[in-house]
Amino acid sequence: MIPFLDLRRQHAPLKPELMAALARVVDGSQFVLGGEGRALETDVAAVCGVAHAVGVGSGTDALRLALTALDIGAGDEVITPAFSFVASATTIMMTGATPVLVDIDESTFCMSPRSLEATIAATKGRLALKAVVPVHLYGQPADLTAICRIAADNGLLVLEDCAQAHGAAAGGRKVGTFGDAAAFSFYPTKNLGALGDGGLIVTSREDVAEEARVTREYGWRKRYISDQVGVNSRLDELQAALLRVMLRHLEADNERRRRIAGRYASRLAGSAFTLPAPIDSSRRRSGAHRIDRK
Ligand SMILES: *Cc1c(COP(=O)(O)O)cnc(C)c1O
Repeated sequence: MIPFLDLRRQHAPLKPELMAALARVVDGSQFVLGGEGRALETDVAAVCGVAHAVGVGSGTDALRLALTALDIGAGDEVITPAFSFVASATTIMMTGATPVLVDIDESTFCMSPRSLEATIAATKGRLALKAVVPVHLYGQPADLTAICRIAADNGLLVLEDCAQAHGAAAGGRKVGTFGDAAAFSFYPTKNLGALGDGGLIVTSREDVAEEARVTREYGWRKRYISDQVGVNSRLDELQAALLRVMLRHLEADNERRRRIAGRYASRLAGSAFTLPAPIDSSRRRSGAHRIDRK
């Protein structure tokens, strides 16, 4: 039996650093929205190469609050892949909008640009179509070049679901920087996982970051003054401090995961199992991602 994941083994070498971070927060006695959270936001924004990062309570809330910050709500339609974790679609429903499901590409397991185009064509004239939520499944970037071009051609916003893709890049550019905003999850089993729940929104749009900051904390623009409705969804200081430790190891961890995945891929080649293939190799192999444009 090969364990799918062994978090104890993953955390053991980091324990001294994690315990030091924990002690720092206990001693500092600031537990919600303090220096650790701000430092993590700055670090993640720098790693991604975007202007803003906003820590929230979970990946689900990162998606939900980002959708709300993009002004998506009742009456709107949002396109997302039929194959993903459930939150990609349910967060769209939570805003009052309607998810419109498109197929994935059979080689990459991510949103098929061809299916996206076909769905948009089939819904022509439906002004309710407002945004696309591509998902970077299993750490693999969706075909962002094609998806963002199709979205731009059709006046649609793009929110990247990066919950499984911390540190992933496409063409040298980090995921989370292609769309209007992106949502990350820090659930313990993700590539960058906290010791509890957590999430984060990145965006280069100041207005989206500002709106997310207000809605994550009771709708406060000024303390104790709720001039709009908000939730309580804040990344706490303990998780932020622990995540700052893990973030320093993300690049090396991802490299090791790629090596292990490569080993599985070569041993399973020619078997009945289909592993998700990187976009570039699948494009070479089958042309599956090519979009025929007139
Ligand atoms: C985990 C996950 C989420 C939700 O994140 P939580 O932190 O568990 O709320 C959303 N989308 C995808 C693709 C995920 O894998």
